[in-house]
Amino acid sequence: MTLRYSTDIVIFGGGVAGLWLLNRLNNEGYRTILFELNGLGCGQTLASQGIIHGGLKYALSGSLNSASNIIATMPNRWRECLAGNGSVDLRGCHLLSDEYYMWSQSSVRSKLKTFLGSKSLRGRVERVAKESYPDFFGQATVNGVLYKLPDFVIETESLVRTLSQGQEQNIYKLSSDSASFQRDQNGNVNTVVVETENGQLSIDCQRLVFAAGKGNMKLIEEANLKTVKTQLRPLNMIFVKGAKLPAIYVHCIGDSFSLTPKLTVTSHKDAIGQTVWYLGGEIAESGVGKSRDEQLLAARQLISKLFPWLDLSETKWECFAIDRAEPAVNSIYRPDDAFLTEEDGVIVAWPTKLTLAPSLGDMALQQLEDKAIVPSPITDNNDLTEILAHPDFSAAQWN
Ligand SMILES: Cc1cc2nc3c(=O)[nH]c(=O)nc-3n(C[C@H](O)[C@H](O)[C@H](O)COP(=O)(O)OP(=O)(O)OC[C@H]3O[C@@H](n4cnc5c(N)ncnc54)[C@H](O)[C@@H]3O)c2cc1C
Repeated sequence: MTLRYSTDIVIFGGGVAGLWLLNRLNNEGYRTILFELNGLGCGQTLASQGIIHGGLKYALSGSLNSASNIIATMPNRWRECLAGNGSVDLRGCHLLSDEYYMWSQSSVRSKLKTFLGSKSLRGRVERVAKESYPDFFGQATVNGVLYKLPDFVIETESLVRTLSQGQEQNIYKLSSDSASFQRDQNGNVNTVVVETENGQLSIDCQRLVFAAGKGNMKLIEEANLKTVKTQLRPLNMIFVKGAKLPAIYVHCIGDSFSLTPKLTVTSHKDAIGQTVWYLGGEIAESGVGKSRDEQLLAARQLISKLFPWLDLSETKWECFAIDRAEPAVNSIYRPDDAFLTEEDGVIVAWPTKLTLAPSLGDMALQQLEDKAIVPSPITDNNDLTEILAHPDFSAAQWN
């Protein structure tokens, strides 16, 4: 038996992109539902380091372009949302740290790079006086320079829960990893058919949105879209657990001219309240293809070199592979703003960074306005709970 249903917008993907758009579009009066294949947040969102940043890497390269101007406005957009005054209400989302630092060891090259970074950030990067160093850097046994950045770190599990709050009746779990898409006489995809326990559900809508990260690849194929393509950037991320680890949030700029920090550390808590250091940056990129033992050894050596005063006894180390999913723009170019495009009535979106979710929301609303898509008068009740299940929340890798 096939049941029929209609709504304005159907989103695929329950990471930050899909959940952010669900909130923005429903707030603007569009009847919007979201389908998640696995658990909410289970892809890149909960694997991210949660840094809401203003585009330090552009400053480090000395190149400020239009994309860097957009990203520079994002921390304030998030702060408005966190205070309940922004385009999405994030009052339930926890901050892990309101402070983010950059640590540069005293090699000439890295000092220079750090200097260039601070200069092009026009006073937004503040050199920290030695007497004001946080405890951990105050204990340093090597010479280094510490800078404070205008960035902050959010707890991504609470982000996913907050974005889902109040939207429970609009979020459903797909019971199979395939959906089929149907076109109208103009060639626009405006119907999606999903499986339910008792048969099929056919949903007519004004727009479909693919916001499924890596999953966009398969959705694009199933909807037979031709122009938009996905690119994956693999990473080998590391986490370290230890009751004695201090909570630190820092980019360590190395002594090469690479724009990627050698090491990016954020600190989290596991299920039993133990501190977890989550390690990304260049170490995660160069670790692709390494075995678990090789990657953990490389990470341990790097930490010992950067922070020789740190006691690493009684720490437990682990690593895991995760892909960043982005639009394929060209092989050498990394997208620096959120990305949204439309083909045959399907909007395909990648925020490219957690930070850029507010920009993605703006783009989606602009796209609907440009295509004269307006909220339709309510005809159907959005509650599909009797025929579809709701997805669970996923957890961070260390839980
Ligand atoms: C290791 C790492 C660290 C990062 N750190 C940061 C950072 O500190 N700051 C920052 O700004 N950005 C960071 N990013 C980038 C950021 O995490 C991503 O840009 C962002 O989370 C992407 O969100 P998304 O919703 O598009 O995708 P995802 O979070 O990957 O979510 C996609 C969702 O779609 C679901 N799905 C898949 N297929 C289907 C389907 N067919 N139907 C329905 N649902 C489907 C998946 O199960 C998943 O829940 C990091 C990324 C990685 C990988």
